[in-house]
Formats: sequence, structure tokens, C-alpha cells
Amino acid sequence: MPESQFGQLRHQPRVLLGPGPSNLHPRIFQAMSSPILGYLDPDFLALMDDTMVLLRRVFQTENELSITLPGTGMAAMEAAICNVVEPGDKVIVGIHGFFGQRMADIVERHGATPIKVEVNFGEVIEADQISDALDAYPDAKMVGIVHGETSSGIGQPLEEIGRLVRERDKLFLVDTVCSLGGADIAVDQLLVDICYSSGQKCIGGPAGISCITLNDRARSVIDARSQSPDTWYFDLGLIQEYWLGRGAYHHTAPGPMIYAIREALRMIDEEGLPARVERHQRCGDLLKFGLRDLGLQLFGDPENRLPMLTCVMIPDGVDDVAVRKRLLKEYRIEIVGGFGQLKGKAWRIGLMGYSAQEANVHYLLAALAEILG
Ligand SMILES: *Cc1c(COP(=O)(O)O)cnc(C)c1O
Repeated sequence: MPESQFGQLRHQPRVLLGPGPSNLHPRIFQAMSSPILGYLDPDFLALMDDTMVLLRRVFQTENELSITLPGTGMAAMEAAICNVVEPGDKVIVGIHGFFGQRMADIVERHGATPIKVEVNFGEVIEADQISDALDAYPDAKMVGIVHGETSSGIGQPLEEIGRLVRERDKLFLVDTVCSLGGADIAVDQLLVDICYSSGQKCIGGPAGISCITLNDRARSVIDARSQSPDTWYFDLGLIQEYWLGRGAYHHTAPGPMIYAIREALRMIDEEGLPARVERHQRCGDLLKFGLRDLGLQLFGDPENRLPMLTCVMIPDGVDDVAVRKRLLKEYRIEIVGGFGQLKGKAWRIGLMGYSAQEANVHYLLAALAEILG
């Protein structure tokens, strides 16, 4: 790979239409090259406060504890789970794809038992199934579910499940890594107690920074633990001392990553969340319409397809890898293959953040039309 004398890689830019990372607006790079501040510099603390205000807006919450975490979306998933669960706890996990399965795996790693409520790939979990699981396991501590299943392109309805979980006085944990910043996810209104996301998908920032919000119900469950969480780095009790308590050193804040996500959140604010949600919907609809026009078939429950991640079946006789190779080499477009049972059978096309542009949709559709003949 060619490199400049300054060590900068000189590859051609890509049109990133996979399930993340997405393209970054130049403002994000500019923000990342701002001067470095010490983690206790008053200007940095003010910037953290501003980031919390912006996070509350995108999560649509009043939660005081709305912060970033170092690491990608998986860091936030692990933090959300391991701060709550103690050995012997039960967590009901709704599984409608790959990331729900990961949630269950993490519950298990931390010594708790996942009660799996599974549906077929491409379907959504019915509220009745969660209700039945809560009846069968009245001692469950939490219900965890993925909103945007990036593996299937399906969006899980949350409203009814949120009500059910609150009625039973359990915690409700929702993964919005794929969808936050591109979908209307009103954390407080949906009765979600813990919600997390990641920089590089619809939020429009880089990979390597994630975000999480917890309400007082969740915080009091964590406070009432009989033992410390089996994590030090992701111990939210310690991390909140830095974000809310001021001044307690926990880890060196990753300055440029926080600059980046803050700038991405500022851009969401400027565009307006409703307009941004509408943009993702419009681009997703345009893509689905165009793919059908090319004679391709979309995967999964038509009622609940995500706008920001479209899963499309590969036509018979078409070579998955060869098409993606040509897209990348000749058009510099990245799309990604299917997961699990959809491996080799489907493509996953993301339209997230700055990548969610009508021009990108037209370009991809034209490229696919040429390649598929
Ligand atoms: C991408 C994704 C994750 C993991 O995020 P990383 O940033 O890749 O660690 C978790 N959940 C969902 C739904 C995702 O789409």
C-alpha cells in the first residue's frame, strides 16, 4: 500500500455501504485534529458536559448518566451487561439475529443465565413471547433486546415490550448500535432503562468510541449489587465518578475520539433528529425500490425492515464474492455479505450517517446494474 513520506496511507477513498464503518464528514476529521487537552483541563470537562447534553438529545432522555465509553459498540454491550448481572442472575434475551446471540453469550460469560427467546432470522420477537418468558422466570433481573439487527436488516418494535418489562419491575436493556442517530428511539418514552450505541454507524462518527445511557432505576440496581462488577475498566460506578463526579482519574479520556463523536452529535443536532430519521428512511426506501427494480428480492419481514441496513438476496447463479470484489475494485464501493445461514446467499447494504445519501444509492444501483447485466 502506497504511503506518503509523512506516514499517511494514500489509498483511494471508498464509498462505505456496509454495516459500519461508514464514511465520515470532513468536519469529523477536522474535530479530531483539534489540540489535545488534558483529561482534567477545564475546557475538556466543559466539552464532556456538552457531549452529555448532546447524547441526551439523541437518546431522547433526561438521564443524567449519558456518557461515552472507550471502545466500539461491543464495549458498550459488555459494560451494559456486566454492570448489572451477578453470578446466578437470570436475563431474558430476545434473539432475532447474530447480535442478540452475542448478548446472551456475554450474559453467560459474566456468570449469569441467559433465558433465550428466539425467533427465526428475519422475524421480530412478539411481546407475548417476552411476557411468557417473564411468567416462566419471574426472578429474571433484566430483559435485553437488539433494536436494529444488523445481521438480518430487521428492526424490533420496542413499545409493547417496554411496557411489559416495566409492569413486572424488571430492567429493559436495548442495543441501538445499528440504529441510533438514524431512527426515532425515544429512550424515556419507550421505558428503556439502559441503552447503548456506537460511534461509527448512524451517529456518523468513527469506530472506537461508544455511548450509553442509564436511568435511575438501572443505577439503583447497580448500586444494590452484593459485589463489585467483574470488570474494572468498564465499572460504570467508577467511570461516572469521572463524568459526573469530576476529577477522579479512571482512564485517560480518548480526546480525539470524544471530539469526533461530539462533532457527529452536533451535526445530528443541526440537521435535526426528525429530518435525519427521514433522510435515512428516504435513502433506505430508494434503495429497496431500486433493488426490486433490478429484479432482486429483499430478505425478512416486510413490516419491520430497517432503513439503514438492507438485506437483499443474491440471485441464483450470481457469485457473491466476485460481485463484491468488482464493486470494491472498479467502483470502490463496499457492501458486505450475509451472516450465518445467509452467508453466500445475501448482501447487506448499509446507509448510515454520512453514507446515507441518495447519490450513493444511485451510484450503487448503477454499479449493480452493470455488474449483474
Ligand atoms: C455493529 C453492532 C454491534 C457491535 O458494534 P462494534 O462497534 O462493531 O463493536 C453491536 N450490536 C449491533 C446491533 C451492531 O450492529
